[in-house]
Amino acid sequence: DVRVRFCPSPTGNPHVGMVRTALFNWAYARHTGGTLVFRIEDTDAARDSEESYEQLLEAMRWLGLDWDEGPTVSDGSFVAGGGPHEPYRQSQRSDIYADVARRLMEGGYAYPCYCTTEELEQRREQARKEGRPSGYDGHCRDLTGEQIAAYEAEGRSHVVRFRMPGEPITFTDMVRGEITFQPENVSDYSILRTNGAPLYTLVNPVDDALMEITHVLRGEDLLSSTPRQIALYRALAELGVGKGLVPEFGHLPYVMGEGNKKLSKRDPESSLNLYRERGFLPQGLLNYLSLLGWSLSEDRDIFSMDEMIAAFDVHDVNANPARFDLKKCEAINATHLREMPVADFTAACAPWLKAPYAPWPEENFSQAAFEELAPLAQTRLTVLSDITANVDFLFLDEPVEDEKSWQKAMKEGSDALLRTARAKLEPADWTSPEALKEAVLAAGEEHGLKLGKAQAPVRVAVTGRTVGLPLFESLQVLGKDRTLARIDRALE
Ligand code: GLU
Repeated sequence: DVRVRFCPSPTGNPHVGMVRTALFNWAYARHTGGTLVFRIEDTDAARDSEESYEQLLEAMRWLGLDWDEGPTVSDGSFVAGGGPHEPYRQSQRSDIYADVARRLMEGGYAYPCYCTTEELEQRREQARKEGRPSGYDGHCRDLTGEQIAAYEAEGRSHVVRFRMPGEPITFTDMVRGEITFQPENVSDYSILRTNGAPLYTLVNPVDDALMEITHVLRGEDLLSSTPRQIALYRALAELGVGKGLVPEFGHLPYVMGEGNKKLSKRDPESSLNLYRERGFLPQGLLNYLSLLGWSLSEDRDIFSMDEMIAAFDVHDVNANPARFDLKKCEAINATHLREMPVADFTAACAPWLKAPYAPWPEENFSQAAFEELAPLAQTRLTVLSDITANVDFLFLDEPVEDEKSWQKAMKEGSDALLRTARAKLEPADWTSPEALKEAVLAAGEEHGLKLGKAQAPVRVAVTGRTVGLPLFESLQVLGKDRTLARIDRALE
């Protein structure tokens, strides 16, 4: 049975690279009918935070990426967590790591290293000068009991290092094919700090072993740690920690941002919160992120998560770096917005129709008026937050004052046109947008203006902007009295 894991460290805000990793693990688990383990790698007390942990859970919940084992979350719509390998937060598993580290030491798989940072640095410098590999040189690999006692007597502290087996390590990456690491490039590495605290290098493989992980899908940046982990899984298997499994690996391609640089979690466009606040739909964002290294088929880039699950295989992931394209992400989101049932769309707009997003007084809002225009907005929005500016003319006492729009639309002769338009709108049939259009069309004809030119001043007078929802439906919903009053204001 496939068992995959998503195991972020709770540092900082969730970012899109992390979401892509979660998504691919989730899709693989769902495709294979396997299990997704959600593990929190919070062994670095200096960098991890509770707030970031809460944000991770909330991000997964919002995205709809449910997990089978992990921290428990249940809020009615979303239930996930628990499981046979609890706890799933590494900060609560210290005893396990201490025990495994002890067994690794006793079995000779790991050893204390007393080298100081300065000594290591000096020897590394020397190795570089002589053109030798500059990793750890094995200085403390075979210390005798006496040597150890002498270091201890000096009052030196020690880290614990894992002893690499000294032979090439080969594995078949599910994305990249066969990869071999030569021993001189993978030196013995620390698994415990001088204060005895376990490092990522230890806890990650130990939990993979104990949680019986079969496939590791993660970013390419971790490729260099894979040979070390494989050696450690083998040692754990010999010690009987877990079921003796060495997982298969698939390293997901880098995501490149602006200027063909690696998208970093510090880049503003990588922050998940930004997408949420702009009103991306989870299904739109996930659809786009799935394309960073994968595709459903050559001619389809819009699909649902069910369709992704049905088709997803890690072996189809492309090893080439993927380019993050915000425009495409927006276009995909816009398509998902258009394809939703209108009732879902109206409901999804709700957060952007109130403070802090909405600039109008709360009591001005009318759900009925909004729902009249919602279907027209639905086909035009890129992200849900666009809804605010599209309907604010309905709920503000006065339309926004957009200087640029005003300059663009109000030319010489605009006043005369507005007067004619007002005169023709006044007696028109306000139950029919078509009739309102006829009125403005007729006004334009009197001034030698085509409809487009004639409606621009009307639109700016009434909505404050040159662009917006179809004008005559907008006027109708706003109503005759308010429309005429706004034209009068513009003529003052
Ligand atoms: N906690 C690690 C990270 O966030 C997990 C890496 C892995 O998937 O092995 O980078």
